[in-house]
Amino acid sequence: SVPLSFFGGIGAASKQGILVKGSNYLEALNDVDTVAFDKTGTLTKGQFSVVQVNPVNVSKQKLLQMAASVEKNSTHPIAKSILQAYEGELLTVIKADEKAGHGLVAQVNGQSVIVGNAKALKQNNITFTETDAVGTVVYVAVDNQFWGDIVIADVPKSDAQKAIQLLNNRGIHKNVMLTGDNQIVGQTMAQKLKMSAVYTNLLPENKVEIINDLLKVSHKNNKKVAFVGDGINDTPVLATADVGFAMGGLGSDAAVEAADIVIMGDEPSKVSEAMKIAKKTRRIVV
Ligand code: ADP
Ligand code: MG
Repeated sequence: SVPLSFFGGIGAASKQGILVKGSNYLEALNDVDTVAFDKTGTLTKGQFSVVQVNPVNVSKQKLLQMAASVEKNSTHPIAKSILQAYEGELLTVIKADEKAGHGLVAQVNGQSVIVGNAKALKQNNITFTETDAVGTVVYVAVDNQFWGDIVIADVPKSDAQKAIQLLNNRGIHKNVMLTGDNQIVGQTMAQKLKMSAVYTNLLPENKVEIINDLLKVSHKNNKKVAFVGDGINDTPVLATADVGFAMGGLGSDAAVEAADIVIMGDEPSKVSEAMKIAKKTRRIVV
């Protein structure tokens, strides 16, 4: 076999499907004491499926039709699941605005429609009942009337547990989840994966704030913070962390550009693999 020093750490990493944009990032990995993960698409498959349809004063079919018609204008994995669950004619949507971490506001048949999370409905002063189901909840309101909710679920990647375990084995015990999803979903999943903390209901800008807080703590101890994201809305967060990892499998072009390290495929455990290579490389260089 070829000794690692022959092609260096970057070459060794690329053989594992880990693209490192500079040796300084590999070097920085040796000092990481905190790893923050995005949830959807990073720790979970990002393949949602509808598990409940709960209409209020309309039929299930009508609720799904409205939600699907509006979600047709989104590329979010949530949108795909709702379109999959609905078979039938879609309504004509005149205008649809998507707001990161909220959902969509649209004009449908002269009606003003909101399809999004609790935050989106609260912001528009809609009177509604929040569900306590374990799942990501999409609420629908039409002309300020609450039409009900659709509960969808995503599953962790089979590699997610290993990703956290390998970090713990390396002595990195600050493994946190950052998510725009609700508290029930975030806490249930973080507990299952044995992560040290979870921050929920976050907008992209809140994720940046939390990374900045984590950076303060780590930097005080001459340590560094890594962030791992799939790219949807994660670009500013990737740029804020000391080392930003983008998952290349699902990730957007913008994320691949903003990242310091790109993981080809969809395994978050490659973060530990990169750290292992970084450590070996340093041993050879020194
Ligand atoms: P995460 O932080 O888990 O990667 P996002 O930031 O992509 O999640 O989304 C955060 C939350 O915003 C979602 O859990 C959902 O409640 C809401 N949301 C985002 N996009 C949509 C959409 N197209 N339809 C409905 N809700 C959405
Ligand atoms: Mg995401």
